[in-house]
Amino acid sequence: MGQEITLPQFRRWLLAYARRIIQEEDYLTELDAAIGDADHGANMRRGMVKVLERLQAPDDNCNDIGSLLRSVAMIMISSVGGAAGPLYGTFFLRAAAVANQHRSVTLPELARMFRTGLEGIQQRGKAVLEDKTMVDAIQPAVEALEAAAEANQSLAVALASARQAAKLGMEHTVELVARKGRASYLGPRSVGFQDPGATSAYYLFETAAETLATPAENGSEQGQKSTSQEPGDP
Ligand code: ADP
Ligand code: MG
Repeated sequence: MGQEITLPQFRRWLLAYARRIIQEEDYLTELDAAIGDADHGANMRRGMVKVLERLQAPDDNCNDIGSLLRSVAMIMISSVGGAAGPLYGTFFLRAAAVANQHRSVTLPELARMFRTGLEGIQQRGKAVLEDKTMVDAIQPAVEALEAAAEANQSLAVALASARQAAKLGMEHTVELVARKGRASYLGPRSVGFQDPGATSAYYLFETAAETLATPAENGSEQGQKSTSQEPGDP
């Protein structure tokens, strides 16, 4: 407890997420081909290529966590398209509003950012648990983070349990009948397939567990927070 997640760590997370999505493009497409229109991989890759470009630019003008997440939100809204783009955009925008101008956040604050992001997705898309959507991965992960924060667990433990909860939620979508989005047109025929959006959402928590629990290299996140340049990723 008491550990802070810093701006450079959020950057690392988003870069890792973008790379992961790009790596998994074909898999996401395959999942969406089974119960949708086979564009989730391409939609997400299009946005994530822009995220990489943006975050790797020498000066991306993202000097606090709010503006970093907001810039990712805008890219998702303008470039990803489909049902998922605006929903992810809303998630990041709402989380950004909670993080605001902070350059670091605690675990309870992270849980609040993600909870608020999830609420945005649900307000916009009206999906609840077991509708076979991204909510099935995100909600259990948020609940796991909240429980870990409540129990004063370490960031590493909290993020590992969020990742595991998201994974189980994603896998559980296989058994569900889709009630929202394109897959819902299939009704019971959507059973037996994993939801593409729950899968791309799982990667959020997988990469968060890989990046947000360990301090960014060279300790710049402690103390000195006055410059705009962060030690970059390799
Ligand atoms: P589209 O369905 O427009 O082709 P994508 O293929 O990019 O968009 O994204 C599909 C994913 O979006 C689904 O797998 C599902 O997880 C998610 N999704 C669709 N509708 C909703 C909704 N109303 N609420 C939450 N998530 C949704
Ligand atoms: Mg699709």
